[in-house]
Amino acid sequence: MALLQIAEPGQSAAPHQHRLAAGIDLGTTNSLVATVRSGLAETLPDEQGRHILPSVVRYCATGVEVGEAARRAAAADPLNTVSSAKRLIGRGTADLKSLGRELPYEFVMIDSAVPRIRTIAGDVTPVEVSAEILRVLAQRAQETLGGELSGVVITVPAYFDDAQRQATRDAARLAGLHVFRLLNEPTAAAVAYGLDHAADGVHAIYDLGGGTFDISVLRLHKGVFEVMATGGDSALGGDDFDAAVAGWLLAEADLGSDADRGTLRHVLDQARAAKERLAQQETVGLEIDRRDAGLWRGTLTRKQLADLVDPLIRKTINTCRRVLRDAGVTIDEIEDIVMVGGSTRALRVREKVSEFFGQAPLVDIDPDRVVAIGAAIQADVLAGNNPDDEMLLLDVNPLSLGIETMGGLTERILPRNTALPAARAQEFTTFKDGQTAMSIHVVQGERELVADCRSLARFTLRDIPPMVAGAARIRVTFSVDADGLLRVEASELGSGVLARVEVKPSYGLTDGEITGMLKASIERAREDIDARRLVEEQVEAQRVIEALSAALACDADELLSAQERAVIDQALQALIATVDASQNAAEVETAVKRLESECEFYVERRMNSGIRKAMAGQRVDEITPRDDGQEAG
Ligand code: ADP
Ligand code: MG
Repeated sequence: MALLQIAEPGQSAAPHQHRLAAGIDLGTTNSLVATVRSGLAETLPDEQGRHILPSVVRYCATGVEVGEAARRAAAADPLNTVSSAKRLIGRGTADLKSLGRELPYEFVMIDSAVPRIRTIAGDVTPVEVSAEILRVLAQRAQETLGGELSGVVITVPAYFDDAQRQATRDAARLAGLHVFRLLNEPTAAAVAYGLDHAADGVHAIYDLGGGTFDISVLRLHKGVFEVMATGGDSALGGDDFDAAVAGWLLAEADLGSDADRGTLRHVLDQARAAKERLAQQETVGLEIDRRDAGLWRGTLTRKQLADLVDPLIRKTINTCRRVLRDAGVTIDEIEDIVMVGGSTRALRVREKVSEFFGQAPLVDIDPDRVVAIGAAIQADVLAGNNPDDEMLLLDVNPLSLGIETMGGLTERILPRNTALPAARAQEFTTFKDGQTAMSIHVVQGERELVADCRSLARFTLRDIPPMVAGAARIRVTFSVDADGLLRVEASELGSGVLARVEVKPSYGLTDGEITGMLKASIERAREDIDARRLVEEQVEAQRVIEALSAALACDADELLSAQERAVIDQALQALIATVDASQNAAEVETAVKRLESECEFYVERRMNSGIRKAMAGQRVDEITPRDDGQEAG
């Protein structure tokens, strides 16, 4: 998502009481929870001292198992053991086919928008599965800290769309947690390394986990992190390293790929263990129980492992190259490379990343924990525990928000890239005499014409007291909170009548669509300006036509001779004809000017007559036009 994240002073709560907060890295393979204690951010272990909680949930007849126990049971009870729920969260049944990897459990294919997984304990959704994981982690934090959490920060991939973010938030709500905010994983990693306090510059976050690879390029500018580009492969990670090593093992141990499931699982486990140990040692011994064929013994060296995984690492480097190009930055502009994800512990990965970027990546913080640590730092700030550090990482709205004005033009109220939360107000007025209602059309986009923008909502402000056109003062306020929820409020200042609407502006927009909308606005800028001018002139002409017609109906008989009236009528008809026929702003403008000059004497007479009437003791409100209930706006 094209989000910036910024630092803004003065937002933290009073520091009198330490509020408990936690950061949660809700991963595809593994999840962690971290908190800041005595100024230090650290991940929290379970009673057995394990920090990592496998993101696996097993549904049994008697209850739910989460984590290591569930992971170990996966091979024996695949249908009731749900792993990788993150791949499904916020996705529709229609997305299932394109998920890249086979998921071993059974889906309930009823015509529901959300995929449901059939288990012994009933059908479950990915949101419910994620909630189980969050519940265990929050519980762990509460036990360690000895109290209720006031809120959590949960990390999500930078590319997560609104539905995926919303679903993650739903999972937290199901788990009974208050979400301070969702934070992009690469931003969390950058925060863990304190890069938000560094000088302005560009940073790359290389995240190679169990099943996914993500590369993000962030630019820090005046304390603001902007996601310049992201890329990756949702089906490339440590699991593929395991598969590569397992393939080699099967061949070495003379086991065909027709080996039974149990043996395959055993070989995969051995492969994974060997791969992980090679981060510490040069060689590992391997033993494969081949059942009837007996025990096989062998060794795997770092060099051999490198040969097996190099093609996979090369794929990630190619993606890095592409994402740098998308971001429009060169390798020399990258200040730091932050390593995230268990697979970046593999020495070969570090070597290749160093080679490509021409500098050693940051590896001091455990790559498994770095995201959770950044989230914990953020959660601590949002809980208001850090009076010295009033920094708040915030998003910006990726596309301008505004309303439709007369003639189908957009009036931008909150321009794109405004840091959130934000509120802006603008005043509008009625277009017609006696107008008592105004319909407000909320739009999103960079284009001048409403037709080229995205429609978000419509609502109507009613019961405006009848006034002459232009006299009503209608204030429209846009406010977007830190979660990106937009509230639009319209009120007539004299009477206080009010109407409002809430919308989720980014709902359903993919990164690509946002980029597309921005690109179109740049490419079409010239064309748009011309179109806008034409519409503006048409609106102005319409206003003049309306006003003149109303005036003529009111006092033409009294103030104009038949001949004068004929001249004005002719000029009026000429303008109406021009407005209907012309697509040229200058032509319309000229026609308006001509009519105005033809009418000058009439306007003058009206003013004089109005003054005379007022002087004669009439009350001004007696000449205020009646309510004719027309809508415009
Ligand atoms: P995710 O973000 O997908 O939840 P993680 O970041 O936790 O995943 O990474 C898990 C992956 O990291 C697994 O494939 C695991 O085998 C791998 N991994 C963990 N330790 C090492 C190591 N020492 N060397 C190589 N790979 C490792
Ligand atoms: Mg991860």
